[in-house]
Amino acid sequence: MRHYKNFINGGWCAPNGGKEIESIDPATGDVWAFFPRGNDVDVAKAVEAAHLAYTQGKWGSFSVQQRVDCILSLADVLEHRWSELVEAEVRDNGKRASEVEAQFAGLHTWFRYFAEQMLDIESESQQLNNQTQGVSSTAHYSPFGVIGVITPWNSPLMILAWKIAPALAAGNTVVIKPSEHASASTLEFAQLCAESSIPAGVINVISGLGQEAGEPLVKHPLTRKVTFTGSDFGGRKVAEAAASGIIPATLELGGKSPQLLFADADMDNAINGIISGIFLSNGQSCVAGSRLIVEDSIHDEVVKKIIERVSYLKAGDPFDPKTQVAPLANEMHLLKVLSMIADAKNQGAICVCGGAQQYPRDRPNGFYVQPTVFTEVTPNMTLWREEVFGPVLAVIRFSDEAEAVRLANDTDYGLAAGIWTKDETRAQRIVQQIQAGTVYINHYRSVDPGSPIGGFKLSGYGRELGPHAVKDFMQVKSVWLGTAPCSDPFPLTKH
Ligand code: NAD
Repeated sequence: MRHYKNFINGGWCAPNGGKEIESIDPATGDVWAFFPRGNDVDVAKAVEAAHLAYTQGKWGSFSVQQRVDCILSLADVLEHRWSELVEAEVRDNGKRASEVEAQFAGLHTWFRYFAEQMLDIESESQQLNNQTQGVSSTAHYSPFGVIGVITPWNSPLMILAWKIAPALAAGNTVVIKPSEHASASTLEFAQLCAESSIPAGVINVISGLGQEAGEPLVKHPLTRKVTFTGSDFGGRKVAEAAASGIIPATLELGGKSPQLLFADADMDNAINGIISGIFLSNGQSCVAGSRLIVEDSIHDEVVKKIIERVSYLKAGDPFDPKTQVAPLANEMHLLKVLSMIADAKNQGAICVCGGAQQYPRDRPNGFYVQPTVFTEVTPNMTLWREEVFGPVLAVIRFSDEAEAVRLANDTDYGLAAGIWTKDETRAQRIVQQIQAGTVYINHYRSVDPGSPIGGFKLSGYGRELGPHAVKDFMQVKSVWLGTAPCSDPFPLTKH
């Protein structure tokens, strides 16, 4: 049984008060590890260590090149040793090992990309902005200082990399608060950080509950910016605390993403994209394409094909490469998903596939749900309006393009959307009308360091990744240089 500790100033520390959180392996239902249940005292220690590393340690005095070299040393460690992190994340959140491996094999690339981006920013910030007679100015980009980093349980380490790679490249130090449901891979990652050349105190991790450790992190007076990924409920709390401390926050929140499927689409391609959009990672993905809006004339054929493809998927041990359906991440989440399925049935949606808990022979005590499809869904139903964050697809029909767009935008969220059609003009027309931070055409789910990700409406504000990611962790400072004497504003005149 593993007992993890917090990672502060390059060392491992038991939590103040000695409390721990049980981590239950969702495939077996057994406790497999304990995380520290950190509180405000632990958070204060970590923030102060991060602040000292920024103000008095090497990190703040390093040149950009020295900082970049440290980040590249971490990238090298990750490139060679990512496989050591896989077991912790699979046992923590139950995701299939093959999916976790695919994410982790690429972890180093996020660090390399944003280190490069910082080198470009440095050369840009030395350029003259303005040169008028007797004075010139340049724009300098400065780090904020300590960044509070709060992550969810669904893809803890990949989302962490999206946040800290640009934050560190920008010259900040970080205090990370991973989800209480999946802290292990982040704590194991801290060990690899300690083995890179990043100095002590630059990266700190406090595990604990949202209210007990997350909130004090946002409220600490030395935390200068917060980057949060999680539910809109948690995001609202973080935004309120950040507002009262007048610090900026980036919020990556939930989604209820639509997939618009037109009759002229390449059907096999679309079905693959729609199935991967909702059933990969068990729908526990922020961009899960959970609402299928399908043209009337192909509705029945599409539903039949989806059922054929997902009703016999093999559930089981997430470490077994043959497993296609892994457990949901924790029991509380399983109960929430089952209750949303029950509500959908009670509200009149027709369950045409799945709709129940399942008990694989090799993992009978795990938190498994069948891939589930509902038809005859209407926009007033909870299933249409609220994020399930599970393997549940809601299907609705449309008769013309205007109705499809109206249904797609009929949500409080705005994270992603998919459009499936061979008509490029139509696709581009719809892109202009869709209220979502990412729109995929004849494709779904890609992420790349060069493409920003973030939401419209309740899906949050600010963006991660993309060409501005490093600058988002910096503040602009205008520096003016006088090259001629200042004139006297009140020259002596005789009255
Ligand atoms: P959550 O909001 O319950 O928790 C997220 C993190 O916030 C955890 O570390 C938690 O401890 C912390 N937290 C909770 N309350 C807090 C508070 N008052 N102050 C500070 N921190 C607090 O979310 P979750 O259940 O872990 O994650 C699932 C949600 O995340 C889903 O809604 C999903 O759509 C969303 N998500 C969004 C993206 C994106 O990029 N937009 C990516 C992944 C997940």
